Amino acid sequence: TDPARIRNFCIIAHIDHGKSTLADRMLQITGVVSDRDMRAQYLDRMDIERERGITIKSQAVRMPWQLGADTYALNMIDTPGHVDFTYEVSRSLAACEGAILLVDAAQGIEAQTLANLYLALENDLEIIPVLNKIDLPAADPDKYARELAQLIGGDPDEVLRVSGKTGMGVEELLDRVVERIPAPVGVKDAPARAMIFDSVYDSYRGVVTYVRMVDGQLNPRERIQMMSTKATHEILEIGVSSPEPSPSKGLGVGEVGYLITGVKDVRQSKVGDTVTSAAKAASTALPGYTDPLPMVFSGIYPIDGSDYPDLREALDKLKLSDAALQYEPETSVALGFGFRCGFLGLLHLEIITERLRREFDLDLITTAPSVPYQVTTEDRKTVTVTNPSEYPTGAKIAEVLEPIVNASILAPKDYVGAIMELCQSRRGTMKSMDYLGEDRVELKYTLPLGEIVFDFFDQLKSKTQGYASLDYEPAGEAPGDLVKVDILLQGETVDAFSAIVHKDKAYAYGTMMATRLRELIPRQQFEVPIQAAIGARIIARENIRAMRKDVLAKCYGGDITRKRKLLEKQKEGKKRMKMVGRVEVPQEAFIAALSGD
Ligand code: GDP
Ligand code: MG
Repeated sequence: TDPARIRNFCIIAHIDHGKSTLADRMLQITGVVSDRDMRAQYLDRMDIERERGITIKSQAVRMPWQLGADTYALNMIDTPGHVDFTYEVSRSLAACEGAILLVDAAQGIEAQTLANLYLALENDLEIIPVLNKIDLPAADPDKYARELAQLIGGDPDEVLRVSGKTGMGVEELLDRVVERIPAPVGVKDAPARAMIFDSVYDSYRGVVTYVRMVDGQLNPRERIQMMSTKATHEILEIGVSSPEPSPSKGLGVGEVGYLITGVKDVRQSKVGDTVTSAAKAASTALPGYTDPLPMVFSGIYPIDGSDYPDLREALDKLKLSDAALQYEPETSVALGFGFRCGFLGLLHLEIITERLRREFDLDLITTAPSVPYQVTTEDRKTVTVTNPSEYPTGAKIAEVLEPIVNASILAPKDYVGAIMELCQSRRGTMKSMDYLGEDRVELKYTLPLGEIVFDFFDQLKSKTQGYASLDYEPAGEAPGDLVKVDILLQGETVDAFSAIVHKDKAYAYGTMMATRLRELIPRQQFEVPIQAAIGARIIARENIRAMRKDVLAKCYGGDITRKRKLLEKQKEGKKRMKMVGRVEVPQEAFIAALSGD
């Protein structure tokens, strides 16, 4: 295809503002999906995505569109909308020349609208502002057109008004895409350079790599090279999705399509990497490649220890489709054998545990999420601590650095007080407060990531009746007054309950955990102290009183079969008992204590 007839664009929107629905209408109106084959959310392939209304994996679709005498190829690149996947979003945006900025005409601009807009502007994209859901009675397009025009500059009358649901205004929008978004520019005769913006594992075909051609051409059967690793592969199939994959004779300047090379693991075909021709390799890679960096860590354990091999197998499988997932074996006194896993963020953690439960039918318990800390001891050694158990114990601690984020919170102005209170209690520092339009405020804070991973989002939602939206991005590290709190049962540390917390919150954490365990652990023959400690210093204590009578005493002289039944029942229970020193604890007690409530 002649690059002058290509337009590459994406839709950026806050969650639920109607991106998937609009994409569905475009597929229908351009005729690439027939009315008969149309089903809602055509491009959202994963069940979890559809249920939660989030887009995890991006896809690209090519649609023909006629304007005047010419037919254009419109490549729509879908971007994940959530903060955890900012890097993937940025690579999808880098594959485009323009973006449709989609805003719900009954809601206005939200935090992810802004975060994605900033990323789009960083990538020099042409922005087409669009109000969606104008069929809704509650829509106030005049008000939000002003808001949008104020945000990106320009005339409120230029803001298009559409309904992804009814299709109203969608044809005009497609015309606008052709008119306003620049055609791709590249060097036809240069060595091939293609940017990978997505890499998807398919159990039948292996990894499907989505690329945006920048320079040159890639052909079937050609040997290609991944520029970050220098690894080479042969192209078995190359083509475009429209929206079903269809092989082609190759991809040239500005085109968007897929490659299949037979690799079985998305780590061999990484998002952001540059693909070049092995025979005639480009000398410099396209900019912007980085390795995904896990920011949230948690232990994942099977509730039934015999599921451990299944859990390992499930993680090995998920890894094929998720380059950001990390894990290594870990053992815990309380929970047995499991894995320490690293995730991009909380949503990523949730998605993975949900998939393990659903697709692999595993019962799991996860330990409290933790972030990476840089801990320097007085002998000037620094270690990265992603698990409280790695916290240095021998030497004195000189400094602890914790990850910090820049957060942007949008909400109606009535909630400003509640939000400020919440952020303050989470050690936030306010950076700015701006009015967007008449009644909405954007608050900017820097906050420790460790405070956000601990139910911050739920708190924010409940304190603002669901009206606040949140987005954040990493902003380096800062020293924090952090300590490691251990929970001890009769003097023995119960590893799964150790946590790194701020000094001012150590007592509250210790008391909460000690109280929970006191309520959950059955009485023993002897009194059992539960303590919370920072190093050797005890900061809180609870007692489990000794059991008064032997469990069999009440059966004494009674029916022998009843007695035997009781003993058998006890034996069964024993299998799930964990010994902490001399204390016998049913595993359920640990699990209940970890899951809170
Ligand atoms: P996404 O999260 O941005 O992909 O949003 P979806 O496309 O999943 O839409 C979120 C919700 O808004 C769904 O319940 C849609 O049916 C609804 N919706 C989307 N577009 C429209 C529209 O134009 N009008 C109305 N009334 N509802 C819409
Ligand atoms: Mg969607």
